[in-house]
Amino acid sequence: MRPPSVDRLARELAGTGLPHPLLVEAARAAITAGDPSSARDRAEAMSLALLRPVINATGVLLHTNLGRAPYPPATTSRAGYSNLEFDLATGRRGSRHAHAAALLARAAGAEDALVVNNGAAAVLLVLAALSAGEAVAVSRGELVEIGGGFRVPEVLEQSGARLVEVGTTNRTRLADYRRAVAEAGVALLLKVHTSNYQIVGFTESASVVELASLGLPVVVDVGSGLLDAATPWIEGPPPRWLGDEPAVRQTLAAGASLVTFSGDKLLGGPQAGIIAGAGELVERCRRHPLARALRPGAMVLAALQEVALAYLRRDGMAIPFWRMAATPVDELRRRASVLGVGELVDCQSVPGGGSAPGTTIPSAGVAVAGDHADALRAADPPVVARVLEGRTVLDLRTVDPVDDPALAKAVSALS
Ligand SMILES: *Cc1c(COP(=O)(O)O)cnc(C)c1O
Repeated sequence: MRPPSVDRLARELAGTGLPHPLLVEAARAAITAGDPSSARDRAEAMSLALLRPVINATGVLLHTNLGRAPYPPATTSRAGYSNLEFDLATGRRGSRHAHAAALLARAAGAEDALVVNNGAAAVLLVLAALSAGEAVAVSRGELVEIGGGFRVPEVLEQSGARLVEVGTTNRTRLADYRRAVAEAGVALLLKVHTSNYQIVGFTESASVVELASLGLPVVVDVGSGLLDAATPWIEGPPPRWLGDEPAVRQTLAAGASLVTFSGDKLLGGPQAGIIAGAGELVERCRRHPLARALRPGAMVLAALQEVALAYLRRDGMAIPFWRMAATPVDELRRRASVLGVGELVDCQSVPGGGSAPGTTIPSAGVAVAGDHADALRAADPPVVARVLEGRTVLDLRTVDPVDDPALAKAVSALS
């Protein structure tokens, strides 16, 4: 039997909704492999590879594989222009740094702020702008790797700064920094929050207050972007699961010249990096040639502006991450019982994203016997769940309530 023509096979796959050239590619690959019947699976694999919404039932609030923080839906679905770099008051050219960055600075108690593409870019730009060709002191206990590929010594090298290692892995004192300043001509002190791991036991590190006493610029990479340790945007005291996550406002108040952090961790916004602190230093970052290469676009700035406005209104419920993190367990149990599928279970969510390592948030959801991870991923929309001790657990803390019916449908379809 002659194999079907590529074109005919491609036309048969039109129902997948993929553009014709992709279907031709799937059809051709199937025929070349001598298995025309595999064309549909190949097209479906292409379709699954497209970026799409998923239901996160893992209980990991900042899930690196699922885009970290769930950020608010865009306020407008209209195609259109914006005043990205246009000053509506004067009709002259404006600055893209005037919107979200200015609001975030205000929310964090900083003189000024600058938004770039991610946390790594923020650190890179600060070091390039303030210390290229100069020595930067970092504690040996903070020469960390965070996530895939953010290695402090390597970022520092790329910036053109020279690393001066200070102290030891577990103990670094102010005197160690003082010696480095005196002997190695250090121009800047960099303190890095060791986001995703803890050194416990016989440890010591110099505080921001101590470092600031040395009279050099102190840059603190706090990483997670907890804006204020007092969490005034949610009801009640700061949640226990925050552990001792450093906060932007308090780090600046302690004497940091600049603070860098991610937009899509505890801040709860889109992927971005924020540099906040002394106006003159932020301005030097803004003027550096790398700033242009690292700047975000209007979509990111618009999403970040929504988040910044929510913080200024002290309305954590408008920030999906904080709304999910603060949902009472009883409310999650109630939703689980309404689903009408599986067995109600209590479980533990985690902040994730390298934030507050080792802490958990009491949660609830439903469980089904057996490992159904594959079948749930194949649902529409895909559901990502955890398998624990032979059961598939769906943690409702990370599920938007509007997705509960879709989740229930995916679970009830399991055999
Ligand atoms: C997450 C993190 C980074 C990297 O930020 P990205 O936004 O992932 O680029 C850098 N430093 C610290 C301390 C972090 O926690």
